[in-house]
Amino acid sequence: MKRVVIVGMGFGGLRAARALAGKGLEVVLLDRQNYHLFQPLLYQVATAALEQESIAYPIRTMARRWRGTRFRLCEVTGADLEGRRVVTTDGAVDYDYLMLAAGCVTNFFGMESIERHAYDLKELDHAVDLRNRLFCSLELAAEEPAPERRRMLLTFVVVGGGPTGVEFAGALAELVRYLVPADYAELRGDVIRILLIEAGERLLPDLPKELQAYALDRLEEMGVEVLLATRVIGAEPGLVLLQDGTKIGAHTLFWAAGTCAVPLAAALNLPKANGGRIAVQPDLTVAGHPEVFVVGDMAYLEQAGQPLPMVAQVAMQGGEYAARAILKRERGEAVAPFSYWDKGIMAAIGRNAAVVYSFGIKLSGFFAWLVWLGLHIFYLIGFRNRLLVLLDWAYCYLFHERQIRLITRSGKESPCR
Ligand SMILES: Cc1cc2nc3c(=O)[nH]c(=O)nc-3n(C[C@H](O)[C@H](O)[C@H](O)COP(=O)(O)OP(=O)(O)OC[C@H]3O[C@@H](n4cnc5c(N)ncnc54)[C@H](O)[C@@H]3O)c2cc1C
Repeated sequence: MKRVVIVGMGFGGLRAARALAGKGLEVVLLDRQNYHLFQPLLYQVATAALEQESIAYPIRTMARRWRGTRFRLCEVTGADLEGRRVVTTDGAVDYDYLMLAAGCVTNFFGMESIERHAYDLKELDHAVDLRNRLFCSLELAAEEPAPERRRMLLTFVVVGGGPTGVEFAGALAELVRYLVPADYAELRGDVIRILLIEAGERLLPDLPKELQAYALDRLEEMGVEVLLATRVIGAEPGLVLLQDGTKIGAHTLFWAAGTCAVPLAAALNLPKANGGRIAVQPDLTVAGHPEVFVVGDMAYLEQAGQPLPMVAQVAMQGGEYAARAILKRERGEAVAPFSYWDKGIMAAIGRNAAVVYSFGIKLSGFFAWLVWLGLHIFYLIGFRNRLLVLLDWAYCYLFHERQIRLITRSGKESPCR
């Protein structure tokens, strides 16, 4: 029986594994986490709207239903492409076909001070760390007598005007708007600043101008200060440095301004493109290795003169395509090139407010928000997760309450020190 090894059980790997199950091949799933993570809702864990368990799903629970599939928890560190073997922290694994679907990491563009001081959002632990930071800032400010330090503690800087930055800034503004008056009597006279900083001229650059303008207006109505055409170039403890020399006193810096391929991509001797992503052929294989597929955020491919975006739909469609391509090859059939079907893009800005651009249709406001909610529930994995998310959202919506606002410690020290 031929063996397909899939590295990474994110959106791309999951779709591929599902399509290959029970088709007469041995499928080996490798991931350094034992769960699939629904990254688009990470910001809701960070802002205490959702529990972390509700956006993660154990890989073994999925794999037990997929005939011929097994899972190994390990980190893949490299591959011997000629010998058809991946190298992991737990030994080598041979393959007949390899599918690389290990995603991306945050890109700090070499700015070490930002990497040291900023929070980012790619993993579940990142969301919990950021949530700890937000609530520690409020607790510290509530006890802080010095006005200037208090102002710094109550300033939150979000960098990056793409969907993640916009969604996080909106969710944070909403959290602060309802929570602080109710629970922090000590802070009632204070101004809480949320700054959203974007280097380009517009928020949500992939959306039509009307929807960009809607998002900007809505965020400003919610009290977010949006700074466009402004570049963050460094950070120090309690300070964010702008290119024009301005220094902003801020206790929390959240960086959502770029992504690049995972370190595994750099460890492989394969051609690279923008952001260190692996340059693939139109059939998602790498040149000279028709048995090696790369899908999702890790792959770089242009269609109609544009690079495919690093979004879940590209990964899901790529994973399904690569699985079908392997099955066709096994049957000796020809494989057509991958063609991405763009179903659209959307972002939630806050309660009753979202933007959706799909098949030329532009939606904003309440209806767009309902579409956003419905699609996120639809794409979540697992009935229990869907139910938990629906319950948490209904609770937040009806009672303006966030009961998951916990400050947790991973080591002996309190994160508020
Ligand atoms: C905060 C946030 C919000 C987002 N919002 C949206 C959105 O609203 N809409 C949208 O379409 N997209 C969104 N995205 C992007 C979307 O999540 C990604 O495009 C998608 O997850 C890419 O899928 P993938 O399969 O390529 O990789 P991933 O889903 O990232 O999965 C990669 C997997 O590989 C594993 N892995 C990594 N390195 C190794 C290794 N060396 N060894 C073993 N395993 C490894 C990881 O543990 C992970 O399970 C968002 C992303 C983030 C971070």
